[in-house]
Amino acid sequence: MRLSRYFLPVLKETPAEAQIVSHRYMLRAGMIKQASAGIYSWLPLGFKVLRKIEDIIHEEQARAGHIPIQMPTIQSADLWRESGRYDAYGQEMLRITDRHDRDMLFTPTAEELVTDIFRSYVRSYKDLPLTLYQIQWKFRDEIRPRFGVMRGREFYMKDGYNFDLTKEDALHAYNRHLVSYLRTYERMGLQAIPMRADGGPIGGDYTHEFLVLADTGESEVFYDSEITDLKFGEREIDFDNVDQCQAVLEEFTSRYARTDETHDEAVWADVPADRQRTARGIEVGQIFYFGTKYSEALNAVVQDQTGAQVPVHMGSHGIGVSRLLGAIIEASHDDKGIIWPEGVTPFHCGIVNLKQGDDEADAACEALYATLTALGLEPLYDDRNERAGGKFATMDLIGLPWRITVGPRGLKNGVVELTSRRTGESEELPPEQAVARIAEIYGVAQAQE
Ligand code: ATP
Ligand code: MG
Repeated sequence: MRLSRYFLPVLKETPAEAQIVSHRYMLRAGMIKQASAGIYSWLPLGFKVLRKIEDIIHEEQARAGHIPIQMPTIQSADLWRESGRYDAYGQEMLRITDRHDRDMLFTPTAEELVTDIFRSYVRSYKDLPLTLYQIQWKFRDEIRPRFGVMRGREFYMKDGYNFDLTKEDALHAYNRHLVSYLRTYERMGLQAIPMRADGGPIGGDYTHEFLVLADTGESEVFYDSEITDLKFGEREIDFDNVDQCQAVLEEFTSRYARTDETHDEAVWADVPADRQRTARGIEVGQIFYFGTKYSEALNAVVQDQTGAQVPVHMGSHGIGVSRLLGAIIEASHDDKGIIWPEGVTPFHCGIVNLKQGDDEADAACEALYATLTALGLEPLYDDRNERAGGKFATMDLIGLPWRITVGPRGLKNGVVELTSRRTGESEELPPEQAVARIAEIYGVAQAQE
């Protein structure tokens, strides 16, 4: 993309309404625009990151064997009356009446609707296990929408639902989701710690929340410092393997890690004092096993091996897709702007032309742009007729992890400059080598000349 043709409405001033850094940078970098309280338009740069996050989630869900669907945002109240949640949900639910005076609502979550899909088609244990998920907009009429996309009213969520014959199978689904989520967050450059949580309105005996540590987090958390040394890393997992998933769950949940809702002073006292940490965290996901709560209420039964009709065991699993943008920025920024992890960056690198209109500099930038693009990478080329300082400030603000700077002086010596946004370190090297480095960083193969 050439910046001269892009739509990147960067703001110089810090918007007064933004209280936390991620909100400030998302507004200043032209990623989002508030449409009304807690409701945002996603501008090109923000939309691109949202899509990257979504792509990672889809890839990791496929790896775990989960199947994507898409359910509507507007639902009839009928199913919610059947489950008893129409009244229970309270004011967070946006209720709508259609022209025939029928009660409708904007989905805050979708246990009822997915259970209705299940009961309409699935009859036998032979069709289990089954996990369906979607990535879809949700609406919750939060009393205090704030912090930009972190606590919106309309927000984007991955919500998944597993259907299993037995509790044992459903607990495997639970473990599988925990493993899959660990992988998912790590690919986004995040450490999200599974913490024992509270069931809330969804209910359930087993539930973990995933928290990213950040001073601006809304949850108070208590954890054993050993937990932050754990890395999922490159390990190979067979998601059908019950023991393997169980082992990962135990590894990541055996140490003390809880939110204030489940914090227990008596158990906490057993954690060695030098390892006790209190901090704040951002909830970026949650998984639940809730047994037959919805299958009984909505009569979602299958025939088991003995011919008996039994309600299925279920769980649900959510990732706060739009909130993740805020969480990643809270975890990765400096006083100049955002620092995107490579896994989610909107463009793979920036190209800054220090002297637009200089034949050699223009040609070198065009060549870099063409070569990177041919490799399947997306560079953002700042080809505007602007001062170098302004170009650097924009690149730093929007946070591309790598920048190639091209100027007449360097080109005389056959070099360009490759700069890491994270460390600020620069290196001079020939343009081909700069391309080779970027290709290597993103794991794309370069054709042999
Ligand atoms: P919270 O406690 O933050 O209100 P929740 O526990 O009610 O969230 P879940 O039902 O577990 O939310 O939804 C799954 C995920 O969706 C959450 O882990 C969170 O990341 C995200 N999420 C929930 N509410 C919002 C919101 N108002 N704005 C943005 N993301 C949200
Ligand atoms: Mg939650």
